[in-house]
Amino acid sequence: MRRPFVAGNWKMNTDSRSGVALAEAVAARTTGLAGQGVDVAVCPPFVYLKLVFDAVRNSRIAVGAQDVYFEPKGAFTGEISVAMLKDVGCTYVICGHSERRHVLGESDEIINKKVNAAISGGLLPILCVGELLEQRQGGLTEQVVTSQLKAGLANLSAEKLPAVTLAYEPVWAIGTGQTASPEQAQEVHSLIRRVLGGMYDGAAVEQMRILYGGSVKPSNAGSLMRQEDVDGLLVGGASLNADDFVEIIKAAA
Ligand code: PEP
Repeated sequence: MRRPFVAGNWKMNTDSRSGVALAEAVAARTTGLAGQGVDVAVCPPFVYLKLVFDAVRNSRIAVGAQDVYFEPKGAFTGEISVAMLKDVGCTYVICGHSERRHVLGESDEIINKKVNAAISGGLLPILCVGELLEQRQGGLTEQVVTSQLKAGLANLSAEKLPAVTLAYEPVWAIGTGQTASPEQAQEVHSLIRRVLGGMYDGAAVEQMRILYGGSVKPSNAGSLMRQEDVDGLLVGGASLNADDFVEIIKAAA
């Protein structure tokens, strides 16, 4: 039985006051929920990580970063290391979000280095994969997702696999209001589990959590979560509203 996991990706939103207020509201309203039937994380911008960590430190809500750099230290202006994220209380880090792939030009090779560095340094990566609209329309979803998955997990030993959470985020569904149907999500989630089964031991793969992300709202969270291979949700826009995010967490729990 895979324990549900809901993560909120705040992207480049909030400020110090509204971020802390949002984190406190989610923590207060999930007491008893988070930590029992469901794992919950919030992923604020780098500069608010410590403030948000302090705001949720007495709750069961974990904090994640939206990105990381793979080198441990040195002349990498503007970058943030795994150890720095650990230092401010992070448990998770999102790797390969579609906005990093398609807006900021991040390659599979870089994403793979980030996944490996995160695990080696004690952070739990959430590796995002997903196809563009034209790739789906061209019948390339399976090919794109398989290749992102294999590249993202390259050189990752079987012992390290349990540290990874996967997230299927069709790019055409992110921030568009156009959610994948539960059937579309399940189809790709089962493909991901099949591909992983070809790379790793079947029992380990059965334990892996695969989140769905892309315009998740309180109204569609339940039907997505009822799919066999949907083990949780990665939530962007709706995670900025405490009412909506808490409803989504309840649907997942
Ligand atoms: C995301 O940023 O990972 C995401 C899924 O965004 P949204 O929920 O806004 O589509």
